[in-house]
Amino acid sequence: MYLYNHRPAGALLSPLTFCLAASVWVTAAAGTTQSFNGCNELADAGFQEILLRSGSNAYTAREQSYWAANVALRPSCIVQPRTTEEVSRIVKVLAKCSGPVALRSGGHTQWAGANDVPNGVTIDLGRMTKVTYDARTKLASIQPGPRWGDVYGDLLKHRVCVPGGRDGNVGIGGFLTGGGNSYYAGLHGLACDSVANFEVVLANGNVVNANAFTNADLWKALKGGSGNFGIVTRFDMYTFPAKDIWGGIRASLRSEGDKLAQTMVDFTNDNEKNPEDAYIINYAFNPSSSPDVLVAHVVVDTNGVVNASAFEEILKVPVVMNDVKMRTMENMAESYLLPGNQRQTWFSLTFENDVRIIKKAGELHDKLAVELKSLIPAGSFSTQCLFQPLPTLFAERSVQRGGNVFGLDRVKKNALVWLITGATETPAQQKIMHDKLSAFSNTLEAYADSRGLDVQWQYLNYVDETQNPLKSYGKSNVDFIRRVAAKYDPTGFFQKRVVSGWKISKVGA
Ligand SMILES: Cc1cc2nc3c(=O)[nH]c(=O)nc-3n(C[C@H](O)[C@H](O)[C@H](O)COP(=O)(O)OP(=O)(O)OC[C@H]3O[C@@H](n4cnc5c(N)ncnc54)[C@H](O)[C@@H]3O)c2cc1C
Repeated sequence: MYLYNHRPAGALLSPLTFCLAASVWVTAAAGTTQSFNGCNELADAGFQEILLRSGSNAYTAREQSYWAANVALRPSCIVQPRTTEEVSRIVKVLAKCSGPVALRSGGHTQWAGANDVPNGVTIDLGRMTKVTYDARTKLASIQPGPRWGDVYGDLLKHRVCVPGGRDGNVGIGGFLTGGGNSYYAGLHGLACDSVANFEVVLANGNVVNANAFTNADLWKALKGGSGNFGIVTRFDMYTFPAKDIWGGIRASLRSEGDKLAQTMVDFTNDNEKNPEDAYIINYAFNPSSSPDVLVAHVVVDTNGVVNASAFEEILKVPVVMNDVKMRTMENMAESYLLPGNQRQTWFSLTFENDVRIIKKAGELHDKLAVELKSLIPAGSFSTQCLFQPLPTLFAERSVQRGGNVFGLDRVKKNALVWLITGATETPAQQKIMHDKLSAFSNTLEAYADSRGLDVQWQYLNYVDETQNPLKSYGKSNVDFIRRVAAKYDPTGFFQKRVVSGWKISKVGA
């Protein structure tokens, strides 16, 4: 039995003294050891108004608001700061308690443990949703809690835009500290490279800015280093004039897959000539809507050029669905929302830009679809096997903007990011899906390895919890992240206590 809302004698001490004096409480009845995890201490420190306790309707609604059904872990309480100052005070209280803490911005990460924690405190930044624009500096200031669809809408009122998520529901904090692939990557690099300044709450509660001139090491480390250093409470981003874009989804029969695979390779190699264009292909299987695998593909010209020349060969491929049109970025993002409330399994790897990889993945996906049909009822699962360009151009943009910690500048050839996703309904189905996608990933990696096409880099925002994205950044970046984490968080609060997400202390040698 967990006893977070019961008080033993001595609870009238000040919350912080109480935490320190009695950080471990042995419950006689259960004979188990329980930590004082901070919920009562937050209440005593005056945060009742923004504290959601297990059992309340608001708590339940918030736990149900995660995108993936497998990630809500039932914390003892959720605290929802509204301001940077509240984040700072919350961190100060929790730093003096024991028990695990999780950090959540949008709550879109799909693996359990990324953004919630059992029997602990989840700091939920979802009420920090301010988006402002300064016409003098041309910077947009974005708090971590809104959704990209909201951000595009708010900035459109000022006729500006920033590189952000392609699905309007995706969150800000995880996306921007983990990278951020957008339709604008050819022009501006990963979205984190458009962050001019991070406002950060450190483990001691101090609020600092991190930019090219102040705390420049922290600025660089936060671009890919995720939640290892502090809590970002504001992202100040470079903007560009908002233009209507030409783009949308098309879908072809599986028989067109090889042709589309070649167009992806050619597009990626030519992306330097057409940096305003973006392309994704997706072998998708959703047996409840189609008995066959389809090859969906997204084309976008961010300058709003209709039928832009980069898409000439792609547009010749026959389609069974076409939703490409002129639209705002906000409309594009809000038009394609991946459904939530399903149990999600994702794996991601990176390969050289070679058509053999895409064709092999397509074949493996065909086989996967057949196998899954015999294991999971048709209405209870779907899969997607996607490829996205990762040309050397993206890393060049990053270097121009001050650099990040991904280490992509080491990759001297154009590459492709591969992502496979599997949505299921039940834990047993998810176990089947996880085993299958893990095997798929291993097979594809071995295939690439045997042909010298493997790229040792993993995109942190896409990978499964069994993968090791921080390590894939390379030794010098891992060492740099370790040094920056130790400098700004000398007590290791964001390693030992804030347990959610990818931790540099767990990367291994
Ligand atoms: C439907 C869907 C579409 C997607 N589309 C894209 C896409 O187009 N491009 C792309 O690149 N990715 C995409 N992603 C992946 C997405 O980038 C990640 O899921 C990302 O982590 C979401 O951010 P979040 O704020 O919801 O993170 P959360 O799940 O809330 O947080 C995850 C972790 O990020 C860190 N973190 C979060 N907020 C902060 C903060 N304020 N300060 C410090 N650390 C923080 C913490 O370690 C936290 O544990 C998509 C995901 C989904 C589910």
